[in-house]
Amino acid sequence: MVELEDIVKRRDYKLKPYFFKSCKKCPSNYLTLMRHNNTIGQWCPDCRSIFDISRVCTFCNLVYDFDDMECIECEKIITEIAAFEVCIEDNEKALRRLSRKHKRGDIPETIFLNQKQICQEEIIKCKEELEKVKAIRRIEQLLESPTQKQ
Ligand SMILES: [Zn+2]
Ligand SMILES: [Zn+2]
Repeated sequence: MVELEDIVKRRDYKLKPYFFKSCKKCPSNYLTLMRHNNTIGQWCPDCRSIFDISRVCTFCNLVYDFDDMECIECEKIITEIAAFEVCIEDNEKALRRLSRKHKRGDIPETIFLNQKQICQEEIIKCKEELEKVKAIRRIEQLLESPTQKQ
């Protein structure tokens, strides 16, 4: 079971606010922050224009609103990574519990071997899937990183 905190601690991106350095409608290069449409905008005191502030994902460069905190695209793959890692952790815990029960003689040998095999197969399956997803993420990062510096 993947909890929100499992996802949050694996986030490898940020949505960084993109501020304008100068007014887009007049020559002024002094903009202040102000509340606007229930969010924060940049305001030019000279021509009284208000500009919405966007956020840009540091990983995939997708553009979001100022109030957004999560990148939908990145979140999908991080949720998958979290799910596989949690699956591995859960099955490793289950294996340790199983071994303790077996040592105490609480479960018959056949059930012990059967359950142990199920857990081990699950761990192998999750590790394989995890590697695939992580490889995709690494390739994406290599492809995306040159444009991030612009
Ligand atoms: Zn202006
Ligand atoms: Zn992203």
